[in-house]
Amino acid sequence: MDGAFAREGLKGASAENTFGGAVSFLRRRYTKDLTGVDLAVTGVPFDQAVTNRPGARFGPRAIREASALQVYDPPWGWGIDPLSAVAIADYGDLAFDYARPAEFPAVLEAHVAGILAAGAGCIALGGDHSVTLPILRAHAAVHGPLALVQVDAHSDLWPDDDAARVDHGTFAYKAMREGVIDPARSVLVGGRTVVGDMLGVTDIPARTVHEDGPAAVAARVRDVVGDAPCYLTFDIDALDPAFAPGTGTPVWGGLASWQAAALLRDLAGVRLVGGDVVEVSPPYDSAGITAVAGAHVAMELICLWAWARGLR
Ligand code: MN
Ligand code: MN
Repeated sequence: MDGAFAREGLKGASAENTFGGAVSFLRRRYTKDLTGVDLAVTGVPFDQAVTNRPGARFGPRAIREASALQVYDPPWGWGIDPLSAVAIADYGDLAFDYARPAEFPAVLEAHVAGILAAGAGCIALGGDHSVTLPILRAHAAVHGPLALVQVDAHSDLWPDDDAARVDHGTFAYKAMREGVIDPARSVLVGGRTVVGDMLGVTDIPARTVHEDGPAAVAARVRDVVGDAPCYLTFDIDALDPAFAPGTGTPVWGGLASWQAAALLRDLAGVRLVGGDVVEVSPPYDSAGITAVAGAHVAMELICLWAWARGLR
């Protein structure tokens, strides 16, 4: 029991009761020691940049709790077992002063830079979508300009040239303008809100996923990304509100969870260097289904990361 602090190694499944014990992500060891860690999962409980409903600060806790059901067996459909093949640690949540939101981006960037400097990969659990910009900056400092795969109802490309603003709807705009993202290698999947200028990003709306199917869309995404270092950010509002009601800015007409599962699985082969799942807002969730979706997305990100490194 209590693998979160009693686990001997960093690998292996867990037979711990899902409904009891200390809850870490995938029952991995909670640790700030990154020695021997391939992949660090960290929570970013920040939601002060939302335009509508708050609550994503509670996302990391809810996703950790939902993930407790995923550690009995390898994830379906992959043929690999990341729990055995990848040394994963729960690096805990970002510590920051909630009363200094202007300082938050730099604090988060340094947090992720520290993980990457230790030689580990990073998967982040948000938090609202503003958290992705500092995380992208940290990754681009290591890998250079990134291919961004953004799964989202919104492009988050609304113009915002004010460096002091922290806004979940403009993170992608700022990332493009700063050059941490290569728009020619980047793609938005699942969009269904109007934005004036896509800044060169390939746009694959939710309707295209519905009409062409996730396999065809995944093939297009792989074409756009090519062999560039790739970062995948999954805004849970990409899913239809029927599958993810617990989020801040829900929009109808979204992806079904099965479409997202097939899409992510079929992206195997992209050179994933990092990823996140954001905008899970438990206070607006029903029966925990949004947190379950978030935990599954995080597991798929781990599989994509492992696949890119040949960890089987
Ligand atoms: Mn978003
Ligand atoms: Mn969104």
